[in-house]
Amino acid sequence: MLIDSHAHLDMYDNERDLDDVVNRALQGGVTHIIAVGIDVTSSFRAAELAARHECISSTVGLHPHDAEKVNAEALEELKSLGGRPEVVAWGEIGLDFFRDYSPHKTQIEAFKLQLEMADYLDLPVIIHDREAHDEIFEILNKKGGRHRGVIHCFSGDYELAMAFIDMGYYISIPGTVTYKKASVVQDVAARIPLGRMLVETDAPFLAPVPRRGKRNEPVYLAHTARKIAQLRGESFEEIARRTTENAKILFSLS
Ligand SMILES: [Zn+2]
Ligand SMILES: [Zn+2]
Repeated sequence: MLIDSHAHLDMYDNERDLDDVVNRALQGGVTHIIAVGIDVTSSFRAAELAARHECISSTVGLHPHDAEKVNAEALEELKSLGGRPEVVAWGEIGLDFFRDYSPHKTQIEAFKLQLEMADYLDLPVIIHDREAHDEIFEILNKKGGRHRGVIHCFSGDYELAMAFIDMGYYISIPGTVTYKKASVVQDVAARIPLGRMLVETDAPFLAPVPRRGKRNEPVYLAHTARKIAQLRGESFEEIARRTTENAKILFSLS
């Protein structure tokens, strides 16, 4: 039994396609999926999916790629959506200095505003950090309020992972951990405390080996968990049990 802490379920082709994806996940032992929003439209779609499927919860947020879309109106819409019971987190938010689709200053402002919204709604945050490790760390370190959330698709090293963990955050390990040359994320997955680890697909992106390069789905999360088990010398069942427990605590799932 696994929980996929990060999937873009609104990106599949159509409803029938998505129903198949969800059924394959359930049959493959993925009992719950967090459908992550990246803008207002996708946050609404994710919430609809969550309302329709018991095994799906959703999030609201504006991705750093769309930082320029962060305005009072968008935040107000997401705020009201964030009050629905199926919405369990605010995200994904953060900084992406790799793709650089929005100016850094705009991304930073959008990130800070949304951190405040999450605190206001008392929701955990899902943070996207691509080549912006220092900036993300500094913003989180300076912010008041609670530190409740996850650094998704973690791409930093072990020291950075521990710094986020010490602040109170979880670290989510993606399918890249199965890639041959992924020694940094493999080191993180092998050494961070299991009590602070989540697992994710980031589907439909980043399919793990042996599906690498193909469309990803939550059911392939098992490949990722199996790799982590192997790296740590622990059983698959233990990795599944503990990461499921962590996701339930972070997202207040029953
Ligand atoms: Zn992301
Ligand atoms: Zn994502």
